Amino acid sequence: MIAIKDNIAAVELQISSACQRANRNADEVTLLAVSKTKPIKMLEQAYDAGQRNFGESYVQEAVDKITALQNKTDITWHFIGPIQTNKTKLIASHFSWVHSIDRIKVAKRLNEHRSDQDTPLNICLQVNISRELSKSGVLPQDLPALLAVIETCDNLCLRGLMAIPEKNASQASFIQMQTLFIELKKHYPTMDTLSMGMSGDLQLAINAGSTLVRIGSAIFGARS
Ligand SMILES: *Cc1c(COP(=O)(O)O)cnc(C)c1O
Repeated sequence: MIAIKDNIAAVELQISSACQRANRNADEVTLLAVSKTKPIKMLEQAYDAGQRNFGESYVQEAVDKITALQNKTDITWHFIGPIQTNKTKLIASHFSWVHSIDRIKVAKRLNEHRSDQDTPLNICLQVNISRELSKSGVLPQDLPALLAVIETCDNLCLRGLMAIPEKNASQASFIQMQTLFIELKKHYPTMDTLSMGMSGDLQLAINAGSTLVRIGSAIFGARS
């Protein structure tokens, strides 16, 4: 059996070491445990080790897990996968956070479907910082148009930006995200989250001000 508790402790140590090297305080960085494809038993083990933020990418699988674990009311569920418009209702009604908003239609639909909930949906806009043709994410030059729509969405709370820089991206891509984030924060005071950093690029992300790192395989083992 994989010792999930040990894995979480090891990842937390990596985060605090990276913060130390970057001259940052480790409590500025939240660990999001990415549990996609992993069984509920493993999520329960992570929960028992104190983990409270979980990230999922596949809507139906996630809804099943959220339903099964609904008595653990202090879990915060984050949707981090690509969003099909026909899944926006399920996402808006089951998650507290969505990190992967990259187009106007999806933002509008999530806003509509969130109207019956007491709290707004926390959102990050996914930026295609490496400008990869095949990847999701809004290009930096298209952010203003998306933001203009989000400003009109009362049931969405703009919390920040998310990025998945290309494999082996340089520090510069992460710094570009940081620069964008700092610039936008001046106009959008609810922004406090820069969601970037995965198992392989933790240090580069933390150097560039990441406030939330999304770690899957280092906690739960490789996905098949
Ligand atoms: C799967 C996934 C992760 C976690 O990746 P690992 O390599 O397993 O740490 C992080 N972010 C997103 C958006 C993902 O889809």
